[in-house]
Amino acid sequence: MTSRILLQPPPLLGPYAIPQGAWGNNARTRLTGKAWDAIRRQVAATTGARCAVCQHQEIDCRTGKTRLPHCHEEWTFTRGTEDNPEHLAQTLTRLVPLCGPCHSTQHLRNSTRQGRWDIAVEQLARVNGWTTGEATARAEDAVRASVELDHLVWNLDLSLIGCVRMSEVTAGADPRPQVFNPAPILPASL
Ligand SMILES: [Zn+2]
Repeated sequence: MTSRILLQPPPLLGPYAIPQGAWGNNARTRLTGKAWDAIRRQVAATTGARCAVCQHQEIDCRTGKTRLPHCHEEWTFTRGTEDNPEHLAQTLTRLVPLCGPCHSTQHLRNSTRQGRWDIAVEQLARVNGWTTGEATARAEDAVRASVELDHLVWNLDLSLIGCVRMSEVTAGADPRPQVFNPAPILPASL
């Protein structure tokens, strides 16, 4: 059986939300700070430290230096493999440099908790040319789609960045790989 996609990010800056079982389950929290920082800088360099969607470049007003954009981890959630039809995978499919408002549209439930729902909706409307009502409706649909998967537990797949699959990490070992494959990490063009 080939895997069936349960939740997949939209191709442009569509609204997206992460199921609860995957919260905090990501490369940033699994890697050492040094390893994650190296990845973040590589990803930012692909766009000259601009947001890949809206091209915004943030400047630190005190130092006048360019700030690094957020490094967004894009996930696809699937069920089933040839060997195990019930296998649930949370697969890192792309790393994308995003500004804060664009990033808030990809973590709508987190944005809600942080009081950033309106910022996310406004950004969706602005970037996509939607009305606020349309952006709100689409954002609410994205939240509902993720809530439907809240009861599931996911196997994290970070093979995009050359990490071992987390299910293969020995129990009790430091779950954060110290070394990662420095293969090129190029976000696919949007
Ligand atoms: Zn942006």
